[in-house]
Amino acid sequence: MESGPLVLGVDVGGTKVAVGALAGSEAREVVEHPTDTSGSELLLDGIEAGVREVSEKLGQPAAVGVGVPSQIEFASGTVLTSVNIPLAGVPLREVLGHRLGVPIYVDNDANCAALAEAELLESKNIVMLTLGTGVGGGVVTDGRIFRGSHGLGAELGHFSIIADGPPCPGNCPNRGCLEALCSGTALERDATELGKGRPDTRLGAIYEEHGEVTGREVVVAAEEGDPDARLLFERLGNWLGVGIAGYVNVFEPERVVIGGGLSRAADLFLQRAVDEAATRALPALWERVTVTAARGGADAGVIGAGLLAAHEAERDTAQAKAETETEGAR
Ligand SMILES: [Zn+2]
Repeated sequence: MESGPLVLGVDVGGTKVAVGALAGSEAREVVEHPTDTSGSELLLDGIEAGVREVSEKLGQPAAVGVGVPSQIEFASGTVLTSVNIPLAGVPLREVLGHRLGVPIYVDNDANCAALAEAELLESKNIVMLTLGTGVGGGVVTDGRIFRGSHGLGAELGHFSIIADGPPCPGNCPNRGCLEALCSGTALERDATELGKGRPDTRLGAIYEEHGEVTGREVVVAAEEGDPDARLLFERLGNWLGVGIAGYVNVFEPERVVIGGGLSRAADLFLQRAVDEAATRALPALWERVTVTAARGGADAGVIGAGLLAAHEAERDTAQAKAETETEGAR
């Protein structure tokens, strides 16, 4: 294992904050604490405490990367919008930098997850889609995260594949986005719709009893062979395949990786998605790509945030060195 400068990764989730040190493509000394969502100062206190806890064991880090489930303006590390955690408007890079006295890099958690997968797969060109409550994504191209001009880029879930499809459930004015078709939210919407007025079916019985059908219940029903639930996953797989074909054509990745909570049920839809994408993607690009479920384990968020810090700190150092040399040459 190479021993570069110590960098820490912080994975800020809706329920827990995890902090650990990056060690190759693994994390060590990981500590976890519940996320205090009652206010931004308290949440910042929690992040700071986690970093200090790991630093006390391993020493002062050279940089800290932070992954948050939010839209981030990358240069300033400012959280623009955040659904589940109270950080909207907080210039996280500056605030944590001040508290901790080390360089801080902040990015969207889906981007961090894509970095972690790229490292695990030893690939420099991947597209990662995370299917959870919503649909997120990250694109790693030539070993670096693609962010667009302000860091808000690669919202792969908000790409419409059915122009007059269902309204997007996210904070998005579009219709028929992947998030409107392939997210946990979309699955629950469609399962509930399918169950309504059909009490003699399994989904219908669940609807009768609870007034809705949860994603978990659709997964279990499909795994046990329920035809309605299987149909829902079949359709989800089709739509996902349409999306994958588009991303393959645009980015020409080496790997397409499907992560997020729903990917644990990948057996129910991934092959369908691959078959659909195979009929749609440009052949020369398709034959060079592999589509798989994500490998990242419980520490993927910490690893991704650590990799973010390692990559960006290295880039900043190289840039500073180049600038010094240019000054010297004058
Ligand atoms: Zn959308």
